[in-house]
Amino acid sequence: MAVPVSQAFTVATYVLKQKLSGRKRYPLVLMLEPLFRCNLACAGCGKIQYPPHILKAQLTPEQCFKAVEECGTPMVSIPGGEPLLHPQMPEIVAGLVARKKYVYMCTNALLLKEKLHLFKPSKYLSFSVHLDGEKEHHDMAVCREGGWDIAMEGINAAVAAGFRVTTNTTLFDGADPNSVRRHFDQLMAAGVESMMVSPGYTYEKAPDQQHFLGKAKSRRLFRAILSNRKKNWEFNTHPLFSEFLMGKQSFECTPWGMPTYSIFGWQKPCYLLQDGYADTFEEMLESTKWEEYGARSGNPRCANCMVHSGHEASAVDYNFSSLKGFWETAKKYMFKPQYEDEGAMKILNEWKSDSHGPLVQISDGATPVVVSTTITETSNANMAGD
Ligand code: SF4
Repeated sequence: MAVPVSQAFTVATYVLKQKLSGRKRYPLVLMLEPLFRCNLACAGCGKIQYPPHILKAQLTPEQCFKAVEECGTPMVSIPGGEPLLHPQMPEIVAGLVARKKYVYMCTNALLLKEKLHLFKPSKYLSFSVHLDGEKEHHDMAVCREGGWDIAMEGINAAVAAGFRVTTNTTLFDGADPNSVRRHFDQLMAAGVESMMVSPGYTYEKAPDQQHFLGKAKSRRLFRAILSNRKKNWEFNTHPLFSEFLMGKQSFECTPWGMPTYSIFGWQKPCYLLQDGYADTFEEMLESTKWEEYGARSGNPRCANCMVHSGHEASAVDYNFSSLKGFWETAKKYMFKPQYEDEGAMKILNEWKSDSHGPLVQISDGATPVVVSTTITETSNANMAGD
């Protein structure tokens, strides 16, 4: 089962209430970013390029709870930065669990094993481990040799201790679909509950600007990866979002579906773009010029975007907007289609993998580092220990 029945029921009830009340724009998952600092400096990340005083700042537990109550979503995702670097993260998570929120705490898992004892297993808590592929590919993507081994140790420890563990994988140009499929096999064998996969977004601030996927390439890659899927693979993304990635569905983005709250306030318009901030969730909803965003708007920053934070809520909304959408989705949950596709099999068989550039270790934080072969300086990538 991709998510527990109680979670599916809570989310379905919540969305139905929003639809019945005629609310046009409603949030589904709060993206709560309590801090931006990280103990990695991934080449495709757009979050860690802030100056040191911003990287040192963090939301208090009270600020987190206020944002969660203001927004009212049944699910809260905690990305970052690396949430486990926040000294009060156990208190934040416990407070959200006490409020019966389904929490996905996103982590690179470098600190997961040593901090596991600070958390309690709960149906409301899932560690969502960021793993970008098989060992060599992941270490390359996160610019850290040995990162995969440590993350897998964290996963094994969390699974053994009875926690819900899921994974999130971000793919960039050059990803090898055969390798991604082997990666899925490894994760399921390790006992993870379910997996999430999404294309990366072209962050303007990311060090590596050469390896983001355009839409046509994304669809081809995801068709190869997600067609002819194995029976034991479990995904926690909506089935229609997965079809959107494969080019079988078309959705406009609904960025209000996964609003972002950070030390700057409520971010406009989405998790990826920063076109200003609002003090309250309602103010953000009211003051954002939504017509200026999404593929149809012609905004060039949205042209290649297919990320889950913009489009998965669209799939969920479609699911609950008509009987047809409801029935279409119900069938996919009941019968779990494997998407047999000879064309996709041919792509897999003929795929030639690109060779990686040299792997570059991130610094200890004292000196600027060069990540990937695209030269970029990151002055404060590692501020662990605050
Ligand atoms: S298309 Fe992507 S970048 Fe543009 S508003 Fe939607 S989620 Fe944000």
